[in-house]
Amino acid sequence: MSLLDKFGTQRQLQESLAEMGGVAPIATPMDAIHSATSATIGGRRMILAGTNNYLGLTYDAACRAAAIEAIETQGTGSTGSRMASGNYAGHRALERALADAVGWPSCIVFSTGYQTNLGVISALADTGDYLLVDADSHASIHDGCRLSNATTIRFRHNDPENLDRRLARMGDDAHRALIVVEGVYSTLGDRAPLKEITEIKRRYGAWLLVDEAHSFGVFGPRGLGLSEELGVLDDVDFIVGTFSKSLGGVGGFCIGRHAELEFLRMVSRPYIFTASSSPPSIAATREALRQMLDGHALRERLRRHAERLYAEAAQLGYRLGTATPGPVAALVFSERSGAQALWQSLLDNGIYTNLMIPPATPAGLSLVRISLSAAHSEDDIGHIIAALASARC
Ligand code: PMP
Repeated sequence: MSLLDKFGTQRQLQESLAEMGGVAPIATPMDAIHSATSATIGGRRMILAGTNNYLGLTYDAACRAAAIEAIETQGTGSTGSRMASGNYAGHRALERALADAVGWPSCIVFSTGYQTNLGVISALADTGDYLLVDADSHASIHDGCRLSNATTIRFRHNDPENLDRRLARMGDDAHRALIVVEGVYSTLGDRAPLKEITEIKRRYGAWLLVDEAHSFGVFGPRGLGLSEELGVLDDVDFIVGTFSKSLGGVGGFCIGRHAELEFLRMVSRPYIFTASSSPPSIAATREALRQMLDGHALRERLRRHAERLYAEAAQLGYRLGTATPGPVAALVFSERSGAQALWQSLLDNGIYTNLMIPPATPAGLSLVRISLSAAHSEDDIGHIIAALASARC
């Protein structure tokens, strides 16, 4: 066996996807983007229903103007780490705005959401500490655990009793345990039972980090996430999020109720050894955050779209990843061929979605992931539903 022989599985997958012909279902090339909800793919204009553009702000006039002004006044990129020459006033102002939004003392902005989890989890939990992680967490959370010297313990997905049992076995060590969960899970769109989890966390004196990547901007009166929506923010220690979804930029952040979070800047390798997010991205994100905090109407629109799509998809007999409507609607199949056929049929009907197959999915499921945006029109949602109906025939 030589160095490159290990890629047999990937070669097979690539070949079987190529057999589908036409537009690639994975890493789909976008020929031209027209708006937050429309692009040309494979020479045809499509409705985008497979992005994470939940508030639809990527084409917002004020966000674009902020990005353009930042390019004119600060250039296209920072060319340096936050620890060196890449620590611009805009990055610091965005950190202040995020911390103030929650009313906590500290926030650190990272270059991506992926690096945020890597940098925060690995630096917060060290030798002698414990990471209690939901088994279906995003790769960045699992990779953060791998980078940490702490002991990682996985608990069953969205299973507070399983978490409780694991903490019960730890005795006093529970005070050194950081529980890590997501608000909304990106693949199936299901929500963490945060009320139960915060109750357990409090009872054992453990710590809690919630990754609100898919819930920031979407839930809560001010869009601060599922923790805000469920009224459990007071029991959360750290909120992680990304600029790359509701906020329409590139970058990530961690907001901390504890001022000690600031010390991570000196020890977190994914913070130190990489260039900072670009000035236009930071400027657009600052404007998007301003609109998000005041974005009740956008959230309301997104909620209506989600309720309509969930109800119609269930009516058509699709199996959904969760019964509770949210911005992610996963149509689940036990066989890859079913998901692949639906993805292709939706594409043929002018709807771009995400095909997700093992090993990138929980429990070996295959699925078509539809994600909604406040920028979708009622007509767009109608088209998606009609395409789902025609695929059923
Ligand atoms: N956390 C979760 C839960 C995510 O779903 C993602 C992205 N899919 C990330 C973190 C990483 O965010 P980014 O794209 O900004 O790196």
